[in-house]
Amino acid sequence: DIKIEINHVSKVYDTDLVETHALKDINIKIYEGDYVSISGPSGGGKSTLLSIIGLLDEASGGELKIEGKDVTSLTQDQAAEVRNTKLGFIFQSFNLIEELSVYDNVALPLTYRTDGLAAEEIDKKVKECLEKVSLSHRLDHFPNQLSGGQQQRVAIARALAADPAILLVDEPTGNLDSTTGDQVMQLLEELNAQGTTICMVTHDSRYADMARTKYQLKDGVLQVEEEQLSEAV
Ligand code: ADP
Ligand code: ADP
Repeated sequence: DIKIEINHVSKVYDTDLVETHALKDINIKIYEGDYVSISGPSGGGKSTLLSIIGLLDEASGGELKIEGKDVTSLTQDQAAEVRNTKLGFIFQSFNLIEELSVYDNVALPLTYRTDGLAAEEIDKKVKECLEKVSLSHRLDHFPNQLSGGQQQRVAIARALAADPAILLVDEPTGNLDSTTGDQVMQLLEELNAQGTTICMVTHDSRYADMARTKYQLKDGVLQVEEEQLSEAV
């Protein structure tokens, strides 16, 4: 199965008479179960590409499909629905809600769903996802009672709760010390080994190397470094 397909995507930023070609004719297929990294220098276009895949920004041209469905030109509401049901986001800043417990942070996106999950289903899902990130013993803690690594693990549990088609990960270790960062990367590897499809953007080549399919993005041009998964999966 192909989770994400990008065909001839381009992005031009038009500011003050200056045109920046942030993405030039990008083509990617991300297969189910793959672990993709996109690395490269600052300004190369990584954030722009991840924003487009995450339906946070629109491409200037080209086509984007998520699980075979064309999502190139959706209304804001449709895009929000796809984000909530198909995509899991993990950012450098953990983006947890300080006023909510660990449990409620993970449950929140599920309670927003328009397809109406029953309370018991939500409860089961929240506990299952916190188990996956080894935080079952912290359900009632608040974000400020947790270490940075624990907060990122809560964010990962929250992202997993919707059973997303893919996890979109942006510099996951940017706010963590190197030991904690390594643990978060190890967790991502374990989740991938259990079947979660991951697309990660990072400038850290050491972490980019942990992925299975590696791309470099420089001056808006995507180059494949190493590709292992394909139709076979
Ligand atoms: P990276 O994430 O690899 O550092 P970005 O995607 O942030 O790269 O940026 C790619 C290019 O697009 C850069 O030249 C950057 O200056 C430009 N750019 C990014 N966002 C904007 C914006 N909102 N308006 C104008 N130019 C932008
Ligand atoms: P783990 O090994 O589970 O990741 P840590 O070593 O990060 O745990 O943290 C150990 C304990 O200290 C945990 O009970 C955690 O909730 C608590 N803790 C960690 N950082 C903070 C903090 N900044 N404020 C309050 N409690 C914290």
